[in-house]
Amino acid sequence: MSRFRLGTPLSPSALRVMLLGAGELGKEVIIALQRLGVEVIAVDRYPDAPGQQVAHRAHVIDMTDPAALRALVLAEKPHLVVPEIEAIATGALVEIEAEGLAEVIPTARAAQLTMNREGIRRLAAEELGLPTSPYAFADSLDQLQAAIDGGIGYPCVVKPVMSSSGKGQSVLRGPDDVKPAWDYAMAGGRVQQARVIVEGFVTFDYEITQLTVRAVDAASGDVSTFFCEPIGHLQVHGDYVESWQPQPMSPAALERSRDIARRITTALGGRGIFGVELFVRGDAVWFSEVSPRPHDTGLVTLCSQRQSEFELHARAILGLPVDTALREPGASAVIYGGVDAAGIAFEGVGHALAVPRSDLRLFGKPESFVRRRMGVAVANGATIDEARGRAKLAASRVRPVPG
Ligand code: AMP
Repeated sequence: MSRFRLGTPLSPSALRVMLLGAGELGKEVIIALQRLGVEVIAVDRYPDAPGQQVAHRAHVIDMTDPAALRALVLAEKPHLVVPEIEAIATGALVEIEAEGLAEVIPTARAAQLTMNREGIRRLAAEELGLPTSPYAFADSLDQLQAAIDGGIGYPCVVKPVMSSSGKGQSVLRGPDDVKPAWDYAMAGGRVQQARVIVEGFVTFDYEITQLTVRAVDAASGDVSTFFCEPIGHLQVHGDYVESWQPQPMSPAALERSRDIARRITTALGGRGIFGVELFVRGDAVWFSEVSPRPHDTGLVTLCSQRQSEFELHARAILGLPVDTALREPGASAVIYGGVDAAGIAFEGVGHALAVPRSDLRLFGKPESFVRRRMGVAVANGATIDEARGRAKLAASRVRPVPG
């Protein structure tokens, strides 16, 4: 039984969903919602963001401004508010939820806890007792040095508490790296907050994203937890460049991963998909992070699952049943801009799509930067290696050029 009644967009029966953040992940969620006849409002901080190009309406606001966010929700009256990014005035979301103005996905508290590395790390390690790297927080260079000397040691990783994947993050091998890491974190943080987390470096065999869906179980009518097959991925400078599914794992490591994923997502609550990031060495598993929304490494599910992570999210938030089954092995490879230019063109697309079992997503971002993700290639194969080879080949054949 559906929790919401689906209707006709742009009519009084419409079910309205507002995406806060309309990048490439939001764009795919919006397309999934559009297929179910949902009226979609896409919000971003710049015009013509990828998701805004496929939504019913688009708004450009500063989503970190609580008054602007509240005014927009009052004007648009969405049934659901779906954060796609972390940099949002989450205090306003808490009020919106408490006043019953809209339902926040998965919950306003989850958005609040996960926008800050401190909130989620303390919940995971201190409240739930999940295994994590050793860590400490520091508000100054002196405190950072003291935390490292006091037990974290080298190598270690320094990250701003308010930053998304990779930004302002560095690996420290010895005392000479401490000041540069502090300065880099201060420059790379999302908001002016002089606070970092320092983590002991985990030497892992591989890292995974355990996509976990909290959705209504068709049989019981209650919210249950569903797991996708684990996704392996490769990170360069804290940025995902390749992912594949399924990542082979020992039964013990898989069971531990899912136990961690179940506990952290249950603590966050609500409905929707979560990307739980884990480090694995042998049968040992460490919790790293969780995003209460589709995960970039999950782009691979566009070709590998019966329902992509975006379709799963759309169904879960609407109170509909989900199917997390793998269809066949797949891989994704990122296409970077390679140039700083607005309105770029793509050469070699036909050549790329000539790679067997491949597909492309070109995101339509108005402006390209050398290291900005502008598209992705996905491919299937009989094995992970075959799928990875095809995805990388297809991605390498796409050449972004100034328009
Ligand atoms: P994050 O921004 O926390 O997702 O980190 C980005 C990437 O940096 C991770 O996917 C890992 O590859 C690496 N990384 C982050 N923290 C650690 C750690 N404590 N030990 C080892 N590698 C890490």
